[in-house]
Amino acid sequence: MDITPNARTVLEKRYLIRDADGRPTETIEELFHRVADAIAAPDRTYNPDADIKALADRFYARMTKLEFLPNSPTLMNAGRPLGQLAACFVLPVEDSMEAIFEAIKQAALIHKSGGGTGFSFSRLRPKGSTVNTTGGVASGPVSFMRVFNMATEAVKQGGTRRGANMGILRVDHPDILEFIDCKKNNADITNFNISVGITEAFMRAVEADEEYDLIDPNTKESTGRLSAREVFEKIVDAAWRNGEPGIIFLDRLNRDNMVPSVGAIESTNPCGEQPLLPYEACNLGSVNLHRMLRRQEDGASVINWDKLADVVRDAVHFLDNVIDANRYPLAQIDHMTKQTRKIGLGVMGWADLLLELGIPYNSDEAVALGEKVMGFITDTARSASAGLAQVRGAFPLFEESTLKNGTPVRNATMTTIAPTGTLSIIAGCSSGVEPVFAYVFIRNVMDGTELVEANPVLRQLLEERGLYSEDLMRQIAQEGSLAHIDALPEDIRRVFVCAHDISPEYHIKMQAAFQRRTDNAVSKTVNFAHDATIADVRRVYMLAYELGCKGVTIYRDGSRDAQVLNIGKVN
Ligand code: ADP
Repeated sequence: MDITPNARTVLEKRYLIRDADGRPTETIEELFHRVADAIAAPDRTYNPDADIKALADRFYARMTKLEFLPNSPTLMNAGRPLGQLAACFVLPVEDSMEAIFEAIKQAALIHKSGGGTGFSFSRLRPKGSTVNTTGGVASGPVSFMRVFNMATEAVKQGGTRRGANMGILRVDHPDILEFIDCKKNNADITNFNISVGITEAFMRAVEADEEYDLIDPNTKESTGRLSAREVFEKIVDAAWRNGEPGIIFLDRLNRDNMVPSVGAIESTNPCGEQPLLPYEACNLGSVNLHRMLRRQEDGASVINWDKLADVVRDAVHFLDNVIDANRYPLAQIDHMTKQTRKIGLGVMGWADLLLELGIPYNSDEAVALGEKVMGFITDTARSASAGLAQVRGAFPLFEESTLKNGTPVRNATMTTIAPTGTLSIIAGCSSGVEPVFAYVFIRNVMDGTELVEANPVLRQLLEERGLYSEDLMRQIAQEGSLAHIDALPEDIRRVFVCAHDISPEYHIKMQAAFQRRTDNAVSKTVNFAHDATIADVRRVYMLAYELGCKGVTIYRDGSRDAQVLNIGKVN
Protein backbone atom coordinates (compact mmCIF):
# COMPACT_ATOMS: atom_id res chain seq x y z
CA MET A 1 0.00 0.00 0.00
CA ASP A 2 1.26 3.43 -0.92
CA ILE A 3 0.93 5.55 2.23
CA THR A 4 2.92 8.31 3.88
CA PRO A 5 5.26 7.64 6.83
CA ASN A 6 2.85 9.63 9.07
CA ALA A 7 -0.05 7.42 8.02
CA ARG A 8 1.98 4.32 8.76
CA THR A 9 2.86 5.62 12.23
CA VAL A 10 -0.77 6.46 13.08
CA LEU A 11 -2.01 3.06 11.90
CA GLU A 12 0.70 1.18 13.75
CA LYS A 13 0.25 3.14 16.97
CA ARG A 14 -3.51 3.19 17.20
CA TYR A 15 -5.31 0.96 14.72
CA LEU A 16 -3.54 -2.37 14.37
CA ILE A 17 -4.47 -5.29 16.65
CA ARG A 18 -1.77 -5.87 19.27
CA ASP A 19 -0.75 -8.67 21.55
CA ALA A 20 -0.45 -8.44 25.35
CA ASP A 21 3.00 -6.87 24.99
CA GLY A 22 1.71 -4.17 22.70
CA ARG A 23 3.26 -5.59 19.54
CA PRO A 24 1.07 -5.44 16.40
CA THR A 25 -0.21 -8.85 15.34
CA GLU A 26 -1.57 -7.71 11.98
CA THR A 27 -0.14 -5.77 9.05
CA ILE A 28 -1.77 -2.68 7.58
CA GLU A 29 -2.98 -4.77 4.64
CA GLU A 30 -4.47 -7.29 7.07
CA LEU A 31 -6.27 -4.47 8.86
CA PHE A 32 -8.01 -3.45 5.64
CA HIS A 33 -8.87 -7.08 4.83
CA ARG A 34 -10.32 -7.48 8.34
CA VAL A 35 -12.52 -4.41 7.80
CA ALA A 36 -13.54 -5.28 4.23
CA ASP A 37 -14.50 -8.85 5.16
CA ALA A 38 -16.51 -7.83 8.23
CA ILE A 39 -18.43 -5.12 6.36
CA ALA A 40 -19.14 -7.24 3.26
CA ALA A 41 -20.60 -10.08 5.35
CA PRO A 42 -24.05 -8.55 6.09
CA ASP A 43 -24.92 -8.82 2.36
CA ARG A 44 -25.62 -12.48 3.06
CA THR A 45 -28.57 -11.50 5.28
CA TYR A 46 -30.31 -10.02 2.27
CA ASN A 47 -29.17 -12.53 -0.34
CA PRO A 48 -27.83 -15.97 0.67
CA ASP A 49 -26.11 -16.25 -2.74
CA ALA A 50 -24.37 -12.86 -2.56
CA ASP A 51 -20.77 -12.90 -3.77
CA ILE A 52 -19.25 -11.74 -0.49
CA LYS A 53 -15.70 -12.29 -1.69
CA ALA A 54 -16.11 -9.99 -4.69
CA LEU A 55 -17.72 -7.30 -2.53
CA ALA A 56 -14.96 -7.53 0.10
CA ASP A 57 -12.37 -7.16 -2.66
CA ARG A 58 -14.12 -4.02 -3.89
CA PHE A 59 -14.28 -2.50 -0.40
CA TYR A 60 -10.63 -3.42 0.15
CA ALA A 61 -9.59 -1.69 -3.06
CA ARG A 62 -11.54 1.50 -2.26
CA MET A 63 -9.87 1.75 1.13
CA THR A 64 -6.32 0.80 0.16
CA LYS A 65 -6.39 3.14 -2.85
CA LEU A 66 -7.37 5.78 -0.25
CA GLU A 67 -10.49 6.68 -2.24
CA PHE A 68 -12.83 6.10 0.68
CA LEU A 69 -12.30 5.49 4.40
CA PRO A 70 -14.84 4.71 7.14
CA ASN A 71 -14.62 6.49 10.51
CA SER A 72 -11.97 5.42 13.02
CA PRO A 73 -14.08 3.06 15.16
CA THR A 74 -14.84 0.96 12.06
CA LEU A 75 -11.14 0.70 11.20
CA MET A 76 -10.28 -0.14 14.79
CA ASN A 77 -13.07 -2.54 15.73
CA ALA A 78 -14.56 -4.23 12.65
CA GLY A 79 -14.08 -8.00 12.71
CA ARG A 80 -13.02 -7.87 16.36
CA PRO A 81 -14.84 -8.91 19.54
CA LEU A 82 -15.78 -5.34 20.60
CA GLY A 83 -17.22 -4.65 17.16
CA GLN A 84 -18.44 -1.09 17.88
CA LEU A 85 -18.22 0.77 14.59
CA ALA A 86 -19.89 4.18 14.92
CA ALA A 87 -18.26 7.52 15.79
CA CYS A 88 -21.36 9.46 16.79
CA PHE A 89 -23.91 9.06 19.56
CA VAL A 90 -26.43 11.26 21.33
CA LEU A 91 -27.77 10.31 24.75
CA PRO A 92 -30.75 11.83 26.57
CA VAL A 93 -30.22 13.43 29.99
CA GLU A 94 -33.47 13.44 31.97
CA ASP A 95 -34.04 15.53 35.07
CA SER A 96 -33.54 12.93 37.80
CA MET A 97 -30.57 11.62 39.74
CA GLU A 98 -31.10 8.08 38.40
CA ALA A 99 -31.28 9.28 34.80
CA ILE A 100 -28.24 11.54 35.06
CA PHE A 101 -26.02 8.80 36.41
CA GLU A 102 -27.47 6.29 33.97
CA ALA A 103 -26.39 8.61 31.15
CA ILE A 104 -22.88 8.82 32.64
CA LYS A 105 -22.67 5.04 32.66
CA GLN A 106 -23.93 4.82 29.08
CA ALA A 107 -21.41 7.41 27.94
CA ALA A 108 -18.59 5.47 29.61
CA LEU A 109 -19.56 2.35 27.66
CA ILE A 110 -19.58 4.33 24.41
CA HIS A 111 -16.23 5.99 25.13
CA LYS A 112 -14.67 2.62 25.87
CA SER A 113 -15.61 1.60 22.33
CA GLY A 114 -14.13 4.69 20.64
CA GLY A 115 -17.37 6.58 20.05
CA GLY A 116 -18.08 10.21 20.94
CA THR A 117 -21.21 11.35 22.78
CA GLY A 118 -23.38 14.44 22.63
CA PHE A 119 -25.84 15.58 25.31
CA SER A 120 -28.35 18.29 25.76
CA PHE A 121 -28.48 19.40 29.38
CA SER A 122 -31.52 21.58 28.73
CA ARG A 123 -33.97 19.31 30.55
CA LEU A 124 -32.16 19.65 33.89
CA ARG A 125 -33.79 22.01 36.36
CA PRO A 126 -31.80 25.16 37.06
CA LYS A 127 -29.31 25.61 39.85
CA GLY A 128 -30.96 26.49 43.15
CA SER A 129 -34.41 25.04 42.40
CA THR A 130 -35.84 22.66 44.96
CA VAL A 131 -35.66 18.89 44.87
CA ASN A 132 -39.01 17.45 45.99
CA THR A 133 -37.86 14.17 47.48
CA THR A 134 -35.16 15.60 49.71
CA GLY A 135 -36.19 19.22 50.05
CA GLY A 136 -32.64 20.02 48.95
CA VAL A 137 -31.39 22.32 46.24
CA ALA A 138 -30.57 21.26 42.65
CA SER A 139 -27.01 21.88 41.50
CA GLY A 140 -27.89 22.65 37.86
CA PRO A 141 -26.62 21.57 34.42
CA VAL A 142 -23.08 22.97 34.62
CA SER A 143 -22.21 21.17 37.83
CA PHE A 144 -23.45 17.87 36.38
CA MET A 145 -21.41 18.50 33.23
CA ARG A 146 -18.35 18.49 35.45
CA VAL A 147 -19.29 15.01 36.66
CA PHE A 148 -19.66 13.77 33.06
CA ASN A 149 -16.31 15.37 32.35
CA MET A 150 -14.58 13.58 35.22
CA ALA A 151 -16.06 10.22 34.25
CA THR A 152 -14.73 10.76 30.72
CA GLU A 153 -11.31 11.60 32.08
CA ALA A 154 -11.26 8.34 34.01
CA VAL A 155 -12.16 6.12 31.06
CA LYS A 156 -9.00 5.96 29.01
CA GLN A 157 -9.80 4.18 25.80
CA GLY A 158 -7.46 1.22 25.84
CA GLY A 159 -4.68 3.10 24.09
CA THR A 160 -6.93 4.25 21.26
CA ARG A 161 -8.61 7.51 22.14
CA ARG A 162 -9.96 9.40 25.07
CA GLY A 163 -13.66 10.18 25.01
CA ALA A 164 -15.02 13.32 23.44
CA ASN A 165 -18.32 14.99 24.34
CA MET A 166 -20.61 17.73 23.14
CA GLY A 167 -22.59 19.64 25.75
CA ILE A 168 -25.53 21.77 24.66
CA LEU A 169 -27.74 24.13 26.61
CA ARG A 170 -30.72 25.99 25.18
CA VAL A 171 -30.33 29.75 25.17
CA ASP A 172 -33.57 30.08 27.17
CA HIS A 173 -32.41 27.86 30.04
CA PRO A 174 -32.16 29.88 33.28
CA ASP A 175 -28.49 28.80 33.78
CA ILE A 176 -27.41 30.00 30.33
CA LEU A 177 -25.00 32.70 31.57
CA GLU A 178 -23.12 30.25 33.78
CA PHE A 179 -22.96 27.82 30.83
CA ILE A 180 -21.55 30.42 28.42
CA ASP A 181 -18.61 31.03 30.75
CA CYS A 182 -18.11 27.49 32.05
CA LYS A 183 -14.99 26.92 29.93
CA LYS A 184 -13.54 30.37 30.55
CA ASN A 185 -10.62 28.66 32.27
CA ASN A 186 -8.85 26.44 29.74
CA ALA A 187 -8.19 23.76 32.34
CA ASP A 188 -11.94 23.26 32.96
CA ILE A 189 -14.31 20.71 31.39
CA THR A 190 -11.65 19.76 28.86
CA ASN A 191 -13.41 16.66 27.55
CA PHE A 192 -16.34 18.71 26.25
CA ASN A 193 -16.97 20.95 23.32
CA ILE A 194 -19.83 23.26 24.24
CA SER A 195 -22.45 24.97 22.13
CA VAL A 196 -25.40 27.18 22.93
CA GLY A 197 -28.62 25.91 21.37
CA ILE A 198 -30.05 28.98 19.64
CA THR A 199 -33.67 29.36 18.55
CA GLU A 200 -35.08 31.47 15.71
CA ALA A 201 -37.13 33.36 18.30
CA PHE A 202 -33.94 34.29 20.08
CA MET A 203 -32.28 35.49 16.85
CA ARG A 204 -35.32 37.63 16.06
CA ALA A 205 -35.04 39.12 19.54
CA VAL A 206 -31.36 39.86 18.90
CA GLU A 207 -32.21 41.61 15.64
CA ALA A 208 -35.02 43.62 17.24
CA ASP A 209 -33.02 44.28 20.43
CA GLU A 210 -35.70 42.78 22.67
CA GLU A 211 -35.78 40.77 25.85
CA TYR A 212 -36.70 37.09 25.93
CA ASP A 213 -37.97 34.69 28.60
CA LEU A 214 -35.87 32.18 30.49
CA ILE A 215 -37.89 29.01 31.00
CA ASP A 216 -37.46 26.50 33.82
CA PRO A 217 -37.67 23.12 32.02
CA ASN A 218 -39.15 21.52 35.12
CA THR A 219 -42.03 23.94 35.80
CA LYS A 220 -42.21 25.30 32.20
CA GLU A 221 -42.56 28.75 33.75
CA SER A 222 -40.61 31.89 33.08
CA THR A 223 -37.99 32.60 35.72
CA GLY A 224 -36.96 35.96 34.35
CA ARG A 225 -36.01 37.87 31.21
CA LEU A 226 -32.71 38.79 29.61
CA SER A 227 -31.73 41.11 26.81
CA ALA A 228 -31.12 38.91 23.73
CA ARG A 229 -28.39 41.24 22.51
CA GLU A 230 -26.56 41.10 25.81
CA VAL A 231 -26.61 37.31 25.85
CA PHE A 232 -25.50 37.15 22.21
CA GLU A 233 -22.70 39.56 23.04
CA LYS A 234 -21.56 37.35 25.94
CA ILE A 235 -21.44 34.33 23.63
CA VAL A 236 -19.41 36.23 21.03
CA ASP A 237 -17.11 37.62 23.70
CA ALA A 238 -16.41 34.17 25.18
CA ALA A 239 -15.80 32.70 21.71
CA TRP A 240 -13.39 35.54 20.93
CA ARG A 241 -11.62 34.85 24.23
CA ASN A 242 -10.89 31.16 23.68
CA GLY A 243 -13.07 29.69 20.93
CA GLU A 244 -16.05 28.51 23.01
CA PRO A 245 -19.01 28.25 23.10
CA GLY A 246 -19.98 27.53 19.52
CA ILE A 247 -23.61 27.94 18.57
CA ILE A 248 -26.06 25.56 16.93
CA PHE A 249 -29.38 26.53 15.42
CA LEU A 250 -31.88 24.13 16.96
CA ASP A 251 -34.79 25.00 14.66
CA ARG A 252 -32.63 24.26 11.61
CA LEU A 253 -31.60 20.90 13.00
CA ASN A 254 -35.26 20.09 13.50
CA ARG A 255 -36.34 21.35 10.10
CA ASP A 256 -34.24 18.46 8.77
CA ASN A 257 -35.45 15.98 11.36
CA MET A 258 -36.82 13.22 9.13
CA VAL A 259 -38.86 11.58 11.91
CA PRO A 260 -40.36 14.32 14.12
CA SER A 261 -42.94 11.79 15.35
CA VAL A 262 -40.17 10.14 17.41
CA GLY A 263 -39.08 13.35 19.09
CA ALA A 264 -37.02 16.50 18.68
CA ILE A 265 -33.31 16.75 17.93
CA GLU A 266 -31.62 18.41 20.89
CA SER A 267 -27.96 17.66 20.35
CA THR A 268 -25.19 16.74 17.96
CA ASN A 269 -22.11 14.52 18.29
CA PRO A 270 -18.86 16.02 19.72
CA CYS A 271 -17.65 17.90 16.66
CA GLY A 272 -21.09 19.20 15.70
CA GLU A 273 -21.54 17.61 12.28
CA GLN A 274 -24.11 14.98 13.22
CA PRO A 275 -27.45 16.01 14.77
CA LEU A 276 -29.15 12.93 16.23
CA LEU A 277 -32.22 11.90 18.19
CA PRO A 278 -31.70 10.54 21.71
CA TYR A 279 -30.14 7.04 21.53
CA GLU A 280 -29.35 7.35 17.84
CA ALA A 281 -25.89 6.46 16.54
CA CYS A 282 -24.44 7.28 13.16
CA ASN A 283 -21.43 5.95 11.35
CA LEU A 284 -19.46 8.22 9.07
CA GLY A 285 -17.21 7.72 6.06
CA SER A 286 -15.36 10.06 3.76
CA VAL A 287 -14.49 10.18 0.08
CA ASN A 288 -11.01 11.49 -0.62
CA LEU A 289 -11.70 14.10 -3.31
CA HIS A 290 -8.04 14.41 -4.10
CA ARG A 291 -8.27 10.93 -5.64
CA MET A 292 -11.28 11.89 -7.81
CA LEU A 293 -9.32 13.72 -10.51
CA ARG A 294 -8.04 12.73 -13.92
CA ARG A 295 -5.45 14.34 -16.14
CA GLN A 296 -6.56 15.43 -19.58
CA GLU A 297 -4.32 15.11 -22.62
CA ASP A 298 -3.29 18.75 -22.29
CA GLY A 299 -2.00 17.97 -18.77
CA ALA A 300 -4.78 19.82 -16.94
CA SER A 301 -6.60 18.07 -14.09
CA VAL A 302 -10.40 17.76 -14.12
CA ILE A 303 -12.89 16.08 -11.79
CA ASN A 304 -13.56 12.46 -12.71
CA TRP A 305 -17.33 12.48 -12.10
CA ASP A 306 -17.84 8.85 -13.17
CA LYS A 307 -15.29 7.64 -10.68
CA LEU A 308 -16.77 9.83 -7.96
CA ALA A 309 -20.21 8.34 -8.60
CA ASP A 310 -18.82 4.78 -8.40
CA VAL A 311 -17.03 5.49 -5.15
CA VAL A 312 -20.14 7.11 -3.64
CA ARG A 313 -22.28 4.09 -4.54
CA ASP A 314 -19.79 1.70 -2.93
CA ALA A 315 -19.53 3.97 0.10
CA VAL A 316 -23.31 3.99 0.65
CA HIS A 317 -23.39 0.20 0.39
CA PHE A 318 -20.48 0.02 2.85
CA LEU A 319 -22.00 2.42 5.40
CA ASP A 320 -25.41 0.71 5.27
CA ASN A 321 -23.68 -2.62 5.97
CA VAL A 322 -21.84 -1.05 8.92
CA ILE A 323 -25.24 -0.50 10.59
CA ASP A 324 -25.87 -4.26 10.49
CA ALA A 325 -22.34 -5.35 11.35
CA ASN A 326 -22.15 -2.98 14.34
CA ARG A 327 -22.31 -4.30 17.90
CA TYR A 328 -24.03 -1.49 19.73
CA PRO A 329 -23.12 -0.76 23.36
CA LEU A 330 -26.79 -0.56 24.44
CA ALA A 331 -30.02 -2.25 23.34
CA GLN A 332 -31.81 1.11 23.03
CA ILE A 333 -29.13 2.38 20.67
CA ASP A 334 -29.29 -0.77 18.57
CA HIS A 335 -33.05 -0.36 18.25
CA MET A 336 -33.13 3.40 17.57
CA THR A 337 -30.26 3.38 15.07
CA LYS A 338 -31.92 0.68 12.98
CA GLN A 339 -35.22 2.62 12.90
CA THR A 340 -33.73 5.44 10.81
CA ARG A 341 -30.50 3.87 9.51
CA LYS A 342 -28.77 7.26 9.16
CA ILE A 343 -25.41 7.29 7.44
CA GLY A 344 -22.99 10.20 7.16
CA LEU A 345 -20.98 10.16 3.96
CA GLY A 346 -18.68 13.16 3.58
CA VAL A 347 -15.49 14.32 1.96
CA MET A 348 -11.85 15.05 2.68
CA GLY A 349 -9.12 16.38 0.42
CA TRP A 350 -11.35 19.26 -0.76
CA ALA A 351 -8.55 21.85 -0.46
CA ASP A 352 -6.13 19.52 -2.29
CA LEU A 353 -8.61 19.13 -5.13
CA LEU A 354 -8.87 22.91 -5.48
CA LEU A 355 -5.07 23.22 -5.59
CA GLU A 356 -4.90 20.67 -8.41
CA LEU A 357 -7.60 22.53 -10.32
CA GLY A 358 -5.82 25.85 -9.78
CA ILE A 359 -8.80 27.44 -8.01
CA PRO A 360 -8.14 29.56 -4.89
CA TYR A 361 -10.15 28.37 -1.86
CA ASN A 362 -11.16 31.97 -1.17
CA SER A 363 -12.97 32.55 -4.46
CA ASP A 364 -16.59 32.46 -5.57
CA GLU A 365 -15.60 29.83 -8.12
CA ALA A 366 -14.47 27.50 -5.31
CA VAL A 367 -17.64 28.17 -3.31
CA ALA A 368 -19.82 27.35 -6.33
CA LEU A 369 -17.83 24.21 -7.09
CA GLY A 370 -18.17 23.08 -3.44
CA GLU A 371 -21.93 23.25 -3.70
CA LYS A 372 -21.88 21.41 -7.03
CA VAL A 373 -19.60 18.59 -5.83
CA MET A 374 -21.57 18.09 -2.63
CA GLY A 375 -24.87 18.19 -4.51
CA PHE A 376 -23.57 15.50 -6.84
CA ILE A 377 -22.49 13.34 -3.89
CA THR A 378 -25.78 13.72 -2.00
CA ASP A 379 -27.89 13.04 -5.11
CA THR A 380 -25.80 10.00 -6.06
CA ALA A 381 -25.91 8.71 -2.47
CA ARG A 382 -29.69 9.10 -2.39
CA SER A 383 -30.14 7.13 -5.60
CA ALA A 384 -27.77 4.43 -4.28
CA SER A 385 -29.81 4.28 -1.06
CA ALA A 386 -33.01 3.98 -3.11
CA GLY A 387 -31.39 1.07 -4.94
CA LEU A 388 -30.63 -0.62 -1.64
CA ALA A 389 -34.21 -0.02 -0.49
CA GLN A 390 -35.52 -2.04 -3.44
CA VAL A 391 -33.67 -5.09 -2.16
CA ARG A 392 -33.51 -4.47 1.58
CA GLY A 393 -36.56 -2.31 2.19
CA ALA A 394 -36.81 1.34 3.22
CA PHE A 395 -35.71 2.31 6.74
CA PRO A 396 -38.40 1.09 9.18
CA LEU A 397 -39.79 4.56 10.02
CA PHE A 398 -39.97 5.63 6.36
CA GLU A 399 -43.78 5.67 6.27
CA GLU A 400 -43.97 8.07 9.20
CA SER A 401 -41.03 10.19 8.03
CA THR A 402 -41.05 13.50 6.19
CA LEU A 403 -39.70 11.59 3.17
CA LYS A 404 -42.78 9.37 2.82
CA ASN A 405 -44.08 10.98 -0.36
CA GLY A 406 -40.84 10.42 -2.25
CA THR A 407 -38.93 7.36 -3.44
CA PRO A 408 -38.31 4.87 -0.62
CA VAL A 409 -34.72 5.03 0.66
CA ARG A 410 -32.76 2.73 2.93
CA ASN A 411 -31.28 5.58 4.98
CA ALA A 412 -32.98 8.62 6.54
CA THR A 413 -29.91 10.79 5.92
CA MET A 414 -27.01 10.32 3.53
CA THR A 415 -24.40 13.00 4.03
CA THR A 416 -22.35 14.65 6.80
CA ILE A 417 -19.04 16.53 6.62
CA ALA A 418 -16.78 15.17 9.38
CA PRO A 419 -13.54 16.77 10.53
CA THR A 420 -11.58 13.65 9.39
CA GLY A 421 -8.87 14.44 11.95
CA THR A 422 -7.16 11.05 11.72
CA LEU A 423 -8.66 9.80 8.46
CA SER A 424 -7.02 12.62 6.55
CA ILE A 425 -3.64 11.70 8.05
CA ILE A 426 -4.16 8.10 6.95
CA ALA A 427 -5.19 9.24 3.46
CA GLY A 428 -2.43 11.87 3.30
CA CYS A 429 -4.85 14.62 2.24
CA SER A 430 -6.27 17.89 3.56
CA SER A 431 -8.94 17.39 6.21
CA GLY A 432 -12.68 17.61 5.56
CA VAL A 433 -13.59 20.81 3.72
CA GLU A 434 -10.93 22.83 5.54
CA PRO A 435 -8.28 24.79 3.70
CA VAL A 436 -4.66 23.70 4.06
CA PHE A 437 -3.45 24.92 7.45
CA ALA A 438 0.26 25.05 6.61
CA TYR A 439 2.13 23.93 3.50
CA VAL A 440 5.45 23.05 5.07
CA PHE A 441 6.38 21.56 8.43
CA ILE A 442 9.91 21.23 9.76
CA ARG A 443 10.14 18.25 12.04
CA ASN A 444 13.00 17.63 14.45
CA VAL A 445 14.04 14.00 14.25
CA MET A 446 15.74 12.29 17.16
CA ASP A 447 19.37 12.61 16.13
CA GLY A 448 19.01 16.38 15.79
CA THR A 449 18.46 16.46 12.03
CA GLU A 450 15.53 18.34 10.55
CA LEU A 451 13.00 16.79 8.25
CA VAL A 452 11.20 19.02 5.75
CA GLU A 453 7.64 17.93 5.04
CA ALA A 454 5.94 19.79 2.21
CA ASN A 455 2.35 19.54 1.02
CA PRO A 456 2.53 16.94 -1.79
CA VAL A 457 0.56 19.04 -4.28
CA LEU A 458 2.80 22.04 -3.76
CA ARG A 459 5.94 19.94 -3.88
CA GLN A 460 5.01 18.26 -7.13
CA LEU A 461 4.13 21.53 -8.80
CA LEU A 462 7.33 23.24 -7.68
CA GLU A 463 9.39 20.30 -8.87
CA GLU A 464 7.64 20.28 -12.25
CA ARG A 465 8.41 23.97 -12.64
CA GLY A 466 11.99 23.65 -11.40
CA LEU A 467 11.33 25.87 -8.37
CA TYR A 468 11.72 23.37 -5.54
CA SER A 469 14.51 23.89 -2.99
CA GLU A 470 14.91 23.14 0.71
CA ASP A 471 15.71 26.80 1.38
CA LEU A 472 12.43 27.85 -0.15
CA MET A 473 10.61 25.24 1.97
CA ARG A 474 12.24 26.59 5.12
CA GLN A 475 11.16 30.10 4.19
CA ILE A 476 7.57 28.94 3.69
CA ALA A 477 7.63 27.09 7.02
CA GLN A 478 8.87 30.21 8.75
CA GLU A 479 6.38 32.63 7.19
CA GLY A 480 3.46 30.23 7.43
CA SER A 481 1.99 31.66 4.25
CA LEU A 482 3.15 31.78 0.63
CA ALA A 483 1.49 35.12 0.03
CA HIS A 484 4.59 37.27 0.53
CA ILE A 485 7.32 35.06 -0.90
CA ASP A 486 8.66 36.98 -3.88
CA ALA A 487 10.54 33.98 -5.28
CA LEU A 488 7.18 32.36 -6.10
CA PRO A 489 5.22 33.33 -9.21
CA GLU A 490 1.95 35.17 -8.68
CA ASP A 491 -0.25 32.32 -9.96
CA ILE A 492 1.11 29.98 -7.27
CA ARG A 493 0.76 32.52 -4.46
CA ARG A 494 -2.83 33.20 -5.48
CA VAL A 495 -3.91 29.53 -5.46
CA PHE A 496 -1.85 28.10 -2.57
CA VAL A 497 -3.64 29.99 0.18
CA CYS A 498 -3.53 28.71 3.76
CA ALA A 499 -6.20 28.93 6.48
CA HIS A 500 -4.93 32.31 7.69
CA ASP A 501 -4.83 33.88 4.22
CA ILE A 502 -8.56 33.26 3.92
CA SER A 503 -10.96 35.81 5.35
CA PRO A 504 -13.45 34.53 7.94
CA GLU A 505 -16.20 35.47 5.45
CA TYR A 506 -14.86 32.98 2.90
CA HIS A 507 -14.55 30.30 5.57
CA ILE A 508 -18.25 30.72 6.32
CA LYS A 509 -19.26 30.98 2.67
CA MET A 510 -17.57 27.65 2.01
CA GLN A 511 -19.24 26.05 5.04
CA ALA A 512 -22.62 27.37 3.87
CA ALA A 513 -22.06 26.08 0.32
CA PHE A 514 -21.44 22.53 1.58
CA GLN A 515 -24.30 22.83 4.08
CA ARG A 516 -26.79 23.64 1.31
CA ARG A 517 -26.25 20.16 -0.13
CA THR A 518 -25.51 18.15 3.03
CA ASP A 519 -28.32 16.32 4.86
CA ASN A 520 -26.73 16.56 8.29
CA ALA A 521 -24.21 19.24 9.20
CA VAL A 522 -20.72 20.44 8.35
CA SER A 523 -17.76 20.36 10.70
CA LYS A 524 -15.73 23.53 10.10
CA THR A 525 -13.61 25.89 12.13
CA VAL A 526 -13.46 29.52 11.08
CA ASN A 527 -9.91 30.73 11.70
CA PHE A 528 -9.25 34.27 12.89
CA ALA A 529 -5.94 36.05 13.20
CA HIS A 530 -4.81 36.75 16.76
CA ASP A 531 -5.60 40.46 16.44
CA ALA A 532 -9.18 39.92 15.21
CA THR A 533 -11.71 41.96 17.14
CA ILE A 534 -14.89 40.98 18.96
CA ALA A 535 -16.78 42.75 16.16
CA ASP A 536 -15.12 40.43 13.60
CA VAL A 537 -16.33 37.39 15.53
CA ARG A 538 -19.83 38.83 15.90
CA ARG A 539 -20.03 39.45 12.14
CA VAL A 540 -19.17 35.81 11.39
CA TYR A 541 -21.69 34.46 13.90
CA MET A 542 -24.38 36.61 12.25
CA LEU A 543 -23.23 35.60 8.77
CA ALA A 544 -23.47 31.89 9.70
CA TYR A 545 -27.08 32.58 10.67
CA GLU A 546 -27.84 34.56 7.53
CA LEU A 547 -26.24 32.02 5.15
CA GLY A 548 -28.16 29.06 6.56
CA CYS A 549 -25.39 27.23 8.44
CA LYS A 550 -26.54 24.84 11.18
CA GLY A 551 -23.89 26.02 13.59
CA VAL A 552 -20.55 27.76 13.81
CA THR A 553 -17.24 27.19 15.55
CA ILE A 554 -14.41 29.70 15.52
CA TYR A 555 -10.84 29.80 16.70
CA ARG A 556 -8.74 32.93 17.12
CA ASP A 557 -5.09 32.13 16.63
CA GLY A 558 -3.20 31.70 19.89
CA SER A 559 -6.23 32.49 22.05
CA ARG A 560 -5.95 29.31 24.06
CA ASP A 561 -2.16 29.46 24.41
CA ALA A 562 -2.35 33.05 25.62
CA GLN A 563 -4.81 32.07 28.29
CA VAL A 564 -2.58 29.25 29.54
CA LEU A 565 0.17 31.83 30.01
CA ASN A 566 -2.16 34.13 31.91
CA ILE A 567 -3.16 31.37 34.26
CA GLY A 568 0.50 30.55 34.79
CA LYS A 569 1.12 34.13 35.89
CA VAL A 570 -1.79 34.18 38.33
CA ASN A 571 -0.58 31.01 39.99
P1 ADP B 1 -11.71 10.22 12.43
O1 ADP B 1 -10.89 10.99 11.44
O2 ADP B 1 -10.87 9.63 13.53
O3 ADP B 1 -12.60 9.19 11.82
P2 ADP B 1 -13.14 12.73 12.93
O4 ADP B 1 -12.07 13.67 13.29
O5 ADP B 1 -13.72 12.81 11.56
O6 ADP B 1 -12.66 11.22 13.22
O7 ADP B 1 -14.32 12.89 13.98
C1 ADP B 1 -15.59 12.36 13.69
C2 ADP B 1 -16.36 12.09 14.93
O8 ADP B 1 -15.74 11.03 15.66
C3 ADP B 1 -16.40 13.22 15.95
O9 ADP B 1 -17.34 14.20 15.68
C4 ADP B 1 -16.77 12.44 17.19
O10 ADP B 1 -18.15 12.10 17.20
C5 ADP B 1 -15.93 11.20 17.04
N1 ADP B 1 -14.63 11.37 17.69
C6 ADP B 1 -13.54 12.01 17.24
N2 ADP B 1 -12.52 11.97 18.13
C7 ADP B 1 -12.97 11.29 19.18
C8 ADP B 1 -12.42 10.90 20.44
N3 ADP B 1 -11.18 11.22 20.82
N4 ADP B 1 -13.21 10.19 21.27
C9 ADP B 1 -14.44 9.86 20.94
N5 ADP B 1 -15.02 10.19 19.77
C10 ADP B 1 -14.31 10.91 18.90
